[in-house]
Amino acid sequence: MEIKGTNTTLRCAEPMKTNQRIVVFPLPFQGHINPMLQLANILHTQGFKITIIHTEYNSPIPSNYPHFIFKSIKDSFSEIADELSICTYPTYFVEYLNKSCVDPFKECLARLLTESDTDLVACVITDAGFYFTQSVLDDLKIPRMVLNTSSLGSILAYDALPFYSKKDCFNLTKEDSNFEAQVPAYPLLKYKDMVKITTDPQSMGDYVSNLHNTMKASSGIIWNTFKELEQLEQETISQHLPVPHFTLGPFNKYFPASSSSLIQQDRTIMSWLDTKPPKSTIYVSFGSVAHISEAEFKQVANVLANNGLPFLWVVRPGMVHGTKWIESLPENFLEGLGERGRVVKWSPQQEVLAHPATGCFWTHNGWNSTLESVCEGVPMICSPKYVDQPINARYVTDVWKIGVMLENGFEWNEMEMAIKRVMMDKEGDEMRERISCLKNKLNISLDEGGSSKESLNDLVHYISSL
Ligand code: UDP
Repeated sequence: MEIKGTNTTLRCAEPMKTNQRIVVFPLPFQGHINPMLQLANILHTQGFKITIIHTEYNSPIPSNYPHFIFKSIKDSFSEIADELSICTYPTYFVEYLNKSCVDPFKECLARLLTESDTDLVACVITDAGFYFTQSVLDDLKIPRMVLNTSSLGSILAYDALPFYSKKDCFNLTKEDSNFEAQVPAYPLLKYKDMVKITTDPQSMGDYVSNLHNTMKASSGIIWNTFKELEQLEQETISQHLPVPHFTLGPFNKYFPASSSSLIQQDRTIMSWLDTKPPKSTIYVSFGSVAHISEAEFKQVANVLANNGLPFLWVVRPGMVHGTKWIESLPENFLEGLGERGRVVKWSPQQEVLAHPATGCFWTHNGWNSTLESVCEGVPMICSPKYVDQPINARYVTDVWKIGVMLENGFEWNEMEMAIKRVMMDKEGDEMRERISCLKNKLNISLDEGGSSKESLNDLVHYISSL
């Protein structure tokens, strides 16, 4: 079946006839909601009926999905979300949700199971981060499948890192002699990456252990990745977690993320991009959660303003600590740019990356953003902030060699050099060749007989047989 997307033709396998229902339960953050709703759409095209259980906080927009049933649960999350920054306390947030959602989730599921046709619930697919659901579903004897919205590589790294035994390593500073050294437990990473992954190793270690144990107890794990990108990691993780694994990504090649966007996307920039020469424009976005300091924000602004290339910069309201939006930019900053640069609150990212004018993606390396860049063959400048982002960024720069890392944060010379390396130097052309090659492999994986297509077929048959 072919589904016409906004700018590309998206592919889905032919639907099977089934009247089974799948219940899905996403973690309420943009980078988790997008892949879960994409997966729900993919499974719907395969003939499954879909019910979405979701928290009130960051609720998806049901009217964008008239073919799904939505059930909202109370989470009392908004109260703490406004007070604390998720960027500073990510594992605390997830832990809080895993406690506060237990009763509402159980009640919602119990109601759902007494409604008509619910005897056909084939399984519940929950975000891996909702680890509390494993025991709830075990008690109810309903199979739990897991959607892991991270890369395979990052989950492998989490499992290897010494969160409990070497806590001090997560607090090293530039002055420490091994700050730049490789981490023996996962040599792709440097100690300075560990500092970014978490500053609270105890809490991160607890999170990782909950994640691991409940994934191991699940009926299977669905990954938003494709075999050709993470083959070795897939083989290793199958040994660590001996349950069925399905790698049918990238999900955004089946359905774009736009309908699950929690923020209004500014589409006016698409006609502005049309005026720019091919591969001329730097696209800058640090995702839906990461924050930067006002000083970092001004540094980035100065570099973008001075280097002469067109740029499109997503600055989410509240992204810059202590400010509402872009009021800390120098007076007349935007006017001075003329038509060369645009700052928007939120973009149709997938379309921006697919636009011929986009020459590089300056990203925080959230897994969705990283995959979306690979899908469109756009090399990256990497500014990872926390949790899995530093790991994804190392894969981008050191394994796949399709991007440049800003090793020292937002340091002026390094930022200028990184833009030059990706946008102007031969090195950038080589990255572009490598990422085009990955893009081709990815497209083949989605074709008949390809790895992702086969994995989707396997998943559909597996769920039907549960
Ligand atoms: N996104 C978007 N518009 C923007 C910035 C991001 O639609 O201006 C989408 C992006 O396409 C991706 C998601 O938001 O699907 C961000 O997820 P990711 O895992 O990259 O990062 P997170 O927000 O979880 O840190």
